[in-house]
Amino acid sequence: MKKVLLTGDRPSGQLHLGHYVGSLKNRVELQESGEYDSFVMIADIQALTDNFKDPQKVRDNVLEVALDYLAVGLDPARTTLTIQSLMPVLAELTVYYLNLVTVARLQRNPTVKNEIKEKGFGANVTAGFLAYPVSQAADITFCKANVVPVGEDQLPMIEQTREIVRSFNSVYGDVLVEPDALIPTETNARRLPGITGNDTKMSKSLGNGIYLADSSDTLRAKVRQMYTDPGHLRVDDPGKIEGNTVFTYLDVFAADKTRVAELKEHYQRGGLGDVAVKNYLFEVLEETLAPIRARRSEYAKDPASVYEILRKGTERANEVGARTLEEVRAAMKIDYFA
Ligand code: ATP
Ligand code: MG
Repeated sequence: MKKVLLTGDRPSGQLHLGHYVGSLKNRVELQESGEYDSFVMIADIQALTDNFKDPQKVRDNVLEVALDYLAVGLDPARTTLTIQSLMPVLAELTVYYLNLVTVARLQRNPTVKNEIKEKGFGANVTAGFLAYPVSQAADITFCKANVVPVGEDQLPMIEQTREIVRSFNSVYGDVLVEPDALIPTETNARRLPGITGNDTKMSKSLGNGIYLADSSDTLRAKVRQMYTDPGHLRVDDPGKIEGNTVFTYLDVFAADKTRVAELKEHYQRGGLGDVAVKNYLFEVLEETLAPIRARRSEYAKDPASVYEILRKGTERANEVGARTLEEVRAAMKIDYFA
């Protein structure tokens, strides 16, 4: 039996370089390894938790995210692409799992805590938003996933899922599988910063991203705006590498590590201008993004075929979920007519 992989994204915007290095790249590599039965979910219910007044935005981004998936090389013949809201099994599992989690535990979840602060919800946070880690546990367990390739911000979510699984199995018997998070080996890729500086992660909701769909010109303009060392005013001045987003990106994306080391040394010594380093970063990013952009625009010509891929994938995911649900109901003694 193959191991099972599940991961996903919120259709709250297009996917960006943070998604690419934090999760998409790993997914494609694991798909290529042939060792996993892979599921990738477009988490539209989760996107609605903080965008419930903007359903059109979520709907439009389902297609955008699907295009990003196909563009980076997720292959529907080998990876099941599925839409969260079209899987009733997830709603059902969520309701059962809610009994296994305390409100205090949800409020302690560091990622949720941080997001409540960032989004300014305070005491007005909805029950739906607070409980989204429980719905995420349903996403991960419907297919009994063993691995979940994600960025670092998702570690508390995976931990929450593991607790729910342990709790379920100890109360009702061994049915669910405890998943492991799979995070990138390169430290800066686990939480790629946005273009405005190393302190904030690149995020769809913060407008600090370089998107997979960005044109060459947009990419060039964004690289030009990137945060460097504010103390590096003249080319001849010695510059700082620490906190310099351009070098953070070079560490993550440039294959030629020797050249990056030389540039760093030159920059710190003085005599190397920001523009020269940025031109190099542009070339490096363009090399990654140009083929993705080209594939994306091919798929974008035929949205109907993309929806058809999602329809088929969702159908298969529902079949897998139905089997898990049968076991869950039996374990919970609510399989009355079985
Ligand atoms: P939102 O702002 O709507 O939450 P997001 O940019 O955080 O959007 P998600 O859809 O929440 O994106 O995240 C999808 C996946 O991408 C998760 O596994 C997450 O860890 C990963 N990811 C998101 N941003 C980054 C980043 N800057 N660096 C590394 N991984 C990231
Ligand atoms: Mg997020």
